[in-house]
Amino acid sequence: MENKKELRNWLDDFGLDHPLVIAGPCSAETEEQVLTIAHQLKDSDATVLRAGIWKPRTRPGNFEGVGALGLKWLQKAKEETGMLITTEVANANHVDLALKHDVDILWIGARTTVSPFIVQEIADALKGTDKPVLIKNPVNPDLSLWLGAVERIHKSDIKNIGVIHRGFSTYEKTRYRNNPEWQLAIDLQNRFPDLPLILDPSHIAGKRDIIFDLCQIGLDLNYDGLMVETHHDPENAWSDAAQQITPASLIQYMDDLKVRKEIGDDAEFNNKINTLRTKIDVIDHQLIEILGKRMIVANDIGTLKKDHNVAVLQTKRWNEILGKMILEGEERNLSEEFVLRMFKAIHQESINHQEKIINP
Ligand code: PEP
Ligand code: MN
Repeated sequence: MENKKELRNWLDDFGLDHPLVIAGPCSAETEEQVLTIAHQLKDSDATVLRAGIWKPRTRPGNFEGVGALGLKWLQKAKEETGMLITTEVANANHVDLALKHDVDILWIGARTTVSPFIVQEIADALKGTDKPVLIKNPVNPDLSLWLGAVERIHKSDIKNIGVIHRGFSTYEKTRYRNNPEWQLAIDLQNRFPDLPLILDPSHIAGKRDIIFDLCQIGLDLNYDGLMVETHHDPENAWSDAAQQITPASLIQYMDDLKVRKEIGDDAEFNNKINTLRTKIDVIDHQLIEILGKRMIVANDIGTLKKDHNVAVLQTKRWNEILGKMILEGEERNLSEEFVLRMFKAIHQESINHQEKIINP
C-alpha cells in the first residue's frame, strides 16, 4: 500500500471543522442504555455513536455482549438522533450482520488485528462495501502486523480506511492499561500521512482521570479523531467501567481541549511546531522512564557489590561502556563530546546511588 490522498476522502467528506469524534459505551447493554447515551451525545461534537455488541473478553465469564440484537438498538439510535453508528466486527458473520443493519463504520478490534487469518476472512466478507473500516492496532507493539491488517483490507478493494491507536499490552505494570508507545503511531503517521489516525484514549488509559490529557496529546500530534468510551452511568457499566466518561464530561472535554486548525501561514507554523514539540515531549518522557529503569538495575548491582564486598567503581568496565557508546553515538550523529558528558552524568548518578546502598 502506498500513501495516497484518497485514503482520507471518507473523512474529508464529513466536512467537519474539528477532529472526528466517535463516542458511546464500551458495550451495548440494553436498548434504553443505548438510546439514553445517544440522546445525551446528540448535541455534542460526536458524529458517530459506538457500542460493542460482540465483546472479546480476555477471560471467559465476563459479559460477552448482547449480540445481533444490539444492532437494532443502534439503528434506532441512528433514526432518533441522526448520529452515524459503528461497532466492532470480529468474523465474517459479524460483517454480514453489521452490513445488513446498515452500520455506517466498522472497526476491527485489537485482538483481531493480531490474526492474519481472521483479518483475511473479514477482508473477504467486506468486499464490495464502501463503508469505512477502522483497524485498531494489534495488542502487541508490532507495526508490520498493524500495517499487514490495513493492507489486507485495502487489497479487498476497501477504499475507506482508518486506523485506531488504542495502546499496547505490556507484561510490566505501567500507569496505563495499554502502553501508548507513541513513537510507533508517529512512525505509522510518517509513512502514511493521509491515512486517518484516530486515538482511543479510553483503552490506553484504563481509567477516567488521564483521558483528557491523552486526548490533548493526540490532538497535538495531529490525530484526525478520537474514539472515547462514554456511558451515562460509567460506574455501573457492564464492561470497562473504570475508563468510561459521561457524555457531559465529553462535551466539557471538547470545550477545553485545544484543537488546532490548519489555516493561514501562522497557524500552519504553530501547528507544525506544536506537533514537533509534542513529539519531543513524548521522547523526553521515554528518556526519563528509561533512565529510571537503568537506575533500578544500578541499585541491584550496588546491593550485589555490597554483599560481595566489591568496590563501587570498576574502571575497566566503565571504560568499555564508554567506548561502545561513543561508537554507537557516532552512528546516530551524536558527537563524542556529548556522549561522554551524558554518560559521565549517568555514571555519576549510579555511583551516588550505589554509594548510598553500600554506606547507608
Ligand atoms: C472496545 O473498543 O471496546 C474494545 C474491545 O477495544 P480493543 O479492541 O481496543 O480492546
Ligand atoms: Mn471497551
